[in-house]
Amino acid sequence: MSAHAAETARAALIARVDACLPQTQCRRCGYDGCLPYAQALVEQGVSIDGCPPGGERVRHALARALGRPQPAGIVHAGEPPVVARVEDPDCIGCTKCIQACPVDAIVGAAGLLHGVVAAWCTGCGLCLPACPTDCIVLEPVAAGAEEDSEHAAAARAAQARARHQALLERRARRAEAGDGPGYLDLAGCSADELGETVLAAVRRRQARDGT
Ligand code: SF4
Ligand code: SF4
Ligand code: SF4
Repeated sequence: MSAHAAETARAALIARVDACLPQTQCRRCGYDGCLPYAQALVEQGVSIDGCPPGGERVRHALARALGRPQPAGIVHAGEPPVVARVEDPDCIGCTKCIQACPVDAIVGAAGLLHGVVAAWCTGCGLCLPACPTDCIVLEPVAAGAEEDSEHAAAARAAQARARHQALLERRARRAEAGDGPGYLDLAGCSADELGETVLAAVRRRQARDGT
């Protein structure tokens, strides 16, 4: 096999392995996201047992994709999907959660109340330790909701992969230009997705202030 063909095959395998992963981007595997874990699985032969959010379904899918023996026993029982929510009375608008979110699912500006776009949130939990006032909670996605279907989970994973990649590319562009990491690029947001979150925050603020 030529070097070019070998490289093409390697890239295709990494893409297949990455497609098995839930795209939560939570880093609990010890890598900086799902794609780096997929690369380590292919290039370094690391264990397929590293993804707690993926549970047994992902572990078995990884074994198939990598041509390894199907694993025995249970390492990760699997986790129900969760979504983050800001408890607004305690939010001080510090923006730390925005900087921690791997999929740009938090909207807000310095000094103002922040909100999570539930449709984009992977439930990774990375914003929780970043919040100095502990005002972010993770809540279960309602059982039986459309989001629980396999098709919806696959669509969510594809969306999270694309949003994480877009964030990495934006940060790389800004670093090259000597800028800070920057915040959410609103260009790709639908009015519905943003509007729902922002309006909910406005209503909460109005209710609190009695306006
Ligand atoms: S979902 Fe989390 S633990 Fe699983 S591969 Fe992605 S970053 Fe790693
Ligand atoms: S809002 Fe929080 S829990 Fe949701 S994806 Fe962003 S960092 Fe993760
Ligand atoms: S980290 Fe907490 S306090 Fe700071 S903006 Fe986010 S939710 Fe508000």
